Amino acid sequence: MRCVRFQVDGEVRYGVIEGDRVRELLRTFFEGATPMRTTYALDEVDLLAPCRPSKMLCLGLNYRDHAEEMGKPLPEEPVLFLKPPTALLGPEQPIVYPKMAGRVDYEAEMAIVIGRRCRSVPPRKVDKVIFGYTCFNDVTARDLQAKDGQWSRAKGFDTFGVLGPWIETAPGNPDDLAVECRLNGEVRQSSRTSQLAFDCRSIVCWASRIMTLEAGDVIATGTPSGIGPMEVGDRVEVEVEGIGVLANPVEAEREKGAKAARIF
Ligand code: MG
Repeated sequence: MRCVRFQVDGEVRYGVIEGDRVRELLRTFFEGATPMRTTYALDEVDLLAPCRPSKMLCLGLNYRDHAEEMGKPLPEEPVLFLKPPTALLGPEQPIVYPKMAGRVDYEAEMAIVIGRRCRSVPPRKVDKVIFGYTCFNDVTARDLQAKDGQWSRAKGFDTFGVLGPWIETAPGNPDDLAVECRLNGEVRQSSRTSQLAFDCRSIVCWASRIMTLEAGDVIATGTPSGIGPMEVGDRVEVEVEGIGVLANPVEAEREKGAKAARIF
């Protein structure tokens, strides 16, 4: 099942994809996918980020090939950081290149979406709390990451948490899916989730021992080797096998700043 959140006639709705159409749901898919009669052509709706996470958990240095590229040993435990919910961005919405930053990188990742509130999940119950998987672009101001010594600013700008285009509940084996990043059509990252140092199920168990996870929370599993900068005017695509393609343009920050009232 492919679950979407979308906007039509100024209203935000939840739905599931049926061929080239979207069937509207009565409530969110986390509250049971109760179908309604209404359907829309996929190309007449604007897809939004497929959920509204209370927090985005992200893992650093979780791919063997990326740790090697950064010249760092694999960590003994996952390296965890957070993106604020205001960083959220959906498919085809512009990533805003901040004036404050000198280098802004793509990071193609697969993300886990949590389906229900949970805490200290044991391995035998973990499949019950994982709702599905989506594509994630962990946009990073690389120069500020080095300068600040911690990552709140570098990873936390508005539009730096890119999610979508939908949540796939059954993408195949999440521990062995191809992850690719393309910049203006050119392949920049290409790996598989089998390269993950910590796999999806163990990440969820581990993270839920630290903080309560809520329905709609997202855990980005880390990026493979091949990270690099984007420029204003570029188009970046993150593709995860069995899920889909998350594509976004890159725009300059406007003189007056982004609209505070943008739709999440
Ligand atoms: Mg990352």
